[in-house]
Formats: sequence, C-alpha cells, structure tokens
Amino acid sequence: MFREAIQQMTAYVPGEQPRRTKVIKLNTNENPYPPSPRVVEAIRQAAGGGLQKYPDATANAFRERAAEVLSADLPQITPDWILCGNGSDDLLTILTRTFVGEGDRLRYPNPSYVLYKTLAEIQGAEPDAVDFDEDWSLGSRFAAAADRLRLAFVANPNSPSGTLVPPNDMAQLADALSCPLVVDEAYGDFADTNCLALVGANERVIVTRTLSKSYALAGLRFGFCVAQPQVIEQLAKVKDSYNCDALSIAAATAAIDDQVWLHDNRAKIVATRARLMQAMRGKGFAVTQSHANFVWCIDANRDLKQLYEDLKAEGVFVRYMPYHGWPEGVRITVGTDNQIDACLALI
Ligand SMILES: *Cc1c(COP(=O)(O)O)cnc(C)c1O
Repeated sequence: MFREAIQQMTAYVPGEQPRRTKVIKLNTNENPYPPSPRVVEAIRQAAGGGLQKYPDATANAFRERAAEVLSADLPQITPDWILCGNGSDDLLTILTRTFVGEGDRLRYPNPSYVLYKTLAEIQGAEPDAVDFDEDWSLGSRFAAAADRLRLAFVANPNSPSGTLVPPNDMAQLADALSCPLVVDEAYGDFADTNCLALVGANERVIVTRTLSKSYALAGLRFGFCVAQPQVIEQLAKVKDSYNCDALSIAAATAAIDDQVWLHDNRAKIVATRARLMQAMRGKGFAVTQSHANFVWCIDANRDLKQLYEDLKAEGVFVRYMPYHGWPEGVRITVGTDNQIDACLALI
C-alpha cells in the first residue's frame, strides 16, 4: 500500500535528544542560552486570548518586522518577499515540493545537511550529491548541467564543516546553474556575510533562515524564506494553510524585534567558538574555520566514535559524523563557557 519511493528510502534520523536532564548537550547546534525574555512575554499574551481562532495564515506581523530588519542587507525587501514556516525544515519541504517532481534531480553538496537527500527521496527524485573541493569550496562540478536538474540546496555556512562559500562565489554559482538555488542560512547569523543581496539580483536565488539556532528557539519551530514576490506567490500555494500557529508567530515576532539580544548572544557564541577551536587544535585535531555555532574536528590518529561514546558515558553529547568518502569527525556545538570547559577537560 506504500509508494515505492517511501518503502525504499531510509528514514532521516534527527540528532539524539536525551531524556536525562543533567547532560551537556552539544550535538544538535541548539543555542545554550535562553531566548529573549520578550519572547516568553509574547507567548503569555498570545495564550491569554484568541486561541479559539485560526492564526494569521501568512504571519503578517512577523513578515512586517522581519522585512524592516532584513532591509539592511536587501533594501528592496517588503513583506511579500517572505514566506514563514514551521521551522526552516518546513520551507525546505515546500521548496522541494514546488520545484522537484518524480524522476527529477535535486543537487546538494557532500558532506552537508542529510535532510536534503531525504527530501529528494520522498519525491521519488534523484539525490545528486556533489563533493565539496578539498578546501570546502564548490567547484564547477556543482554548477554542471544535468538532465532534469530542478533544484540545488547549499547550506551556508555549511554543516558539519562550519565553512562558508563567499557571497560572490555563490552569485557565480547561481548564474551558472540551470535551476533555482536555495541558500540555507540556518547559521547565517553567526557568519560575517550572507547571501540575502543575491535574492534581489536573481529570482532563482532563495534564502532560508531559522529562529532555531541564533534566536535560541529550536523548541518553538519557526523559520522563513526570502525570495522575489513572484516566487513567494508560487511557494505559498504549496504550504499548509496554517503552517505556523498563533503562539509561534507571536514569539517569533518578539524575537526578531529584539536585535540587541541577537547581537549580544552572537558575541558570546563567537567568543566561545574561537576558544573552542583553539583548544581543539591544541589537542591535535584538525579544525576548519567555523562561521557557525559549532566546530568540526577531525583526527586520523584518534578513534572518534570511541571518543563520542566515552563523552556520552560522562553525560556530554557531541555529534559523531561519518560521511561517505570523507574523514569521520566530531561536530561540537558551541555551548556556554562552562559547558565547553567541561567537554574539553574530558577530551
Ligand atoms: C538546523 C538546520 C535546519 C533546520 O532548522 P529548523 O528551523 O529547526 O527546522 C536547516 N538547515 C540546516 C543546515 C540546519 O542545520
């Protein structure tokens, strides 16, 4: 009774969410600090009245505030350049369903976010993983023409490497590709540059963002994408009518309104990130320069699976990640200074 594509695919496995409470969780790139206090207040107010009614289907309050904030990078942006979703994973699903049909091809780099392959497989499309170059740039192979190539995803900064494709290179890639390019900026707020301006220059560039990481709201589920209005109009046909609930819209609006909180939090994460990178290099790991809120560590002389197990036994969760054709590594989320000190001491 199942579609063949579903029966054949292997399920996406999200990062471990341990039930024990006294653990140090550095495995799924959550923010270690609580969100802006204004977020909790907004949820309290929204919960106090109106839950019997459906939410605003297009989350206008959020889109208006977000357009103001994002205009620093994309001056022409207005609310109709933004589509909101139940986490940015929801937007990635909407984008895939909009552009990719059965037998089509969906391209993404390797190693990167594993969900891209899952989204292709659900559609019965062909996952087209193209290896990063050794220096974590995307060579001309990524832009090469291919039969039925309909969509490309690039996480930027990338996970697990934390590396960044500079906006100029991304613009060239978008121009060379024969299909739309989604720049997944889940970690964009932790980097010094982003690709929002590319959206203004090219209708085939779409940027996705999430409030899960930089706004410390992974438990809330809110993300959005930015594209030219005629693209948003088509994407909106594919989304669930009420894909964001009233509480998350209120909370996300309060969160993006508090840019002072964002900048303070970012400064803390970036400082701890530098310390973590330096300490891991001091222990002999090869560490790529991170532009995100995690650090990718490789060491051919260590059994990293064992390291992951040993840390877990002590209540410290990191992510052990083997990728086909690449050296295995551990990805460590930037926690609080105390959490990182505890992790480093165990290593
Ligand atoms: C965390 C993450 C997402 C998903 O974020 P949600 O908004 O929580 O769904 C998307 N892309 C990448 C690369 C991520 O790491």
